[in-house]
Amino acid sequence: MRPSSASSRRRFFRESALWGAAAVFGAAGAAAPKAAASALPALSSVAGVKITRIRCHILQQQAMALVELETDAGVTGWGECAWDGRAVMKRMIDDFLAKECVGQSIHDVRRLWDWMFYENHDLGPGGALPNAIAGIDIALWDAKGRLLGLPVWQLLGGRYRDKVEAYGSIQVRRGRVSVEDCVRSCQEAVQLGYKAVKIRMQIREHFLNLEPDPTFAYVAAARKALGDDIVIMVDANNGYSAARAIQTGLKLYENWNVTYFEDPVSDQNNAEMAQVVDALQRVNIVAGEKCYTRWQIRDLIVQGRVGMLNPDVIKAGGFTELDRIHHLATCFQKPIQLHNSRPTISTAASVHAMATYSQVGRFIEYPHLTPELEAQIRLFRQDVRPRDGWLHLPTGPGLGLEPDPAALRAALAE
Ligand SMILES: [Mg+2]
Repeated sequence: MRPSSASSRRRFFRESALWGAAAVFGAAGAAAPKAAASALPALSSVAGVKITRIRCHILQQQAMALVELETDAGVTGWGECAWDGRAVMKRMIDDFLAKECVGQSIHDVRRLWDWMFYENHDLGPGGALPNAIAGIDIALWDAKGRLLGLPVWQLLGGRYRDKVEAYGSIQVRRGRVSVEDCVRSCQEAVQLGYKAVKIRMQIREHFLNLEPDPTFAYVAAARKALGDDIVIMVDANNGYSAARAIQTGLKLYENWNVTYFEDPVSDQNNAEMAQVVDALQRVNIVAGEKCYTRWQIRDLIVQGRVGMLNPDVIKAGGFTELDRIHHLATCFQKPIQLHNSRPTISTAASVHAMATYSQVGRFIEYPHLTPELEAQIRLFRQDVRPRDGWLHLPTGPGLGLEPDPAALRAALAE
């Protein structure tokens, strides 16, 4: 049966909003009230909803690449892309991907993902293309949820948990943030209720094997200030050769009980990654934030042998590809502990995803808030930042995160 017209769909959403669309298609197939049910159009009205417009907005003050996806039901979904490479991603979305999606059903998320990916494969299967697809894919799932009155986690298959423990992620930029400022940020995180912090050294391949290595001074000061009960993680951001990473990881573990060591070597070098994993059996070697697809994650698992995967929902193609990655990870008994550097849509989407995964690590990343990221939070009616160190699963339809129209209008006008 073909869907009814767009105007009847809009009428349906107005009517269903009066008593909550969730009640119409409620959990466990609960029967709708008789009087209301007779007034409802067939389910095919929902099934036929199509995408009418997709745009990427670059919000400079908020450091946010926001994706807006409109439908012929009058429901709008919101997504986010990674911030790095935003100008390229905006061109990809506005000039290529949007045209491929407009007119298509919002429910065909896997087919649309494959279409966007393979039709544009020559743009590169890693980096900007999956980042751009991620923004659209998250907006699609958000729109589907708003349409049905259900949160995304329910559409993804239901939850294993309703909250995820967050760790505070603090950047050091190879020493450009002082030891004192880093320790202060760590202490603020603990005061907010976090039981874990990550010190991001941001060494990078082109500063390989820094000498002297500033990492130890930061970690020693943080451990002294935080005591023994707080988990301290170190992100080398690809800054070591395998031999040096093994020495460093061992020293960090033995002296300051660093049990999570992220990207110790280049994430493009799985052979070296495997050497580190094999040598540091008592440390969680975490990697995957720059793996954008299931194939890269497969290589990281099989060749790099990492113990814990940290892909990012706004980089690795959104919910659809991340779900495939999770299924792959379960085959190898590898937990997922999502990378997450943004405090609104990315955070909400990450919690929805991790709530639905059977194999997860203890934590999820949450960024130390800069003024731009605080400004981003003010764009939305709900604030999904951690409470007492935990990120709670949003309960509203879609992502459970509603832009504030006035704040968004002002941000778009800047
Ligand atoms: Mg990292």
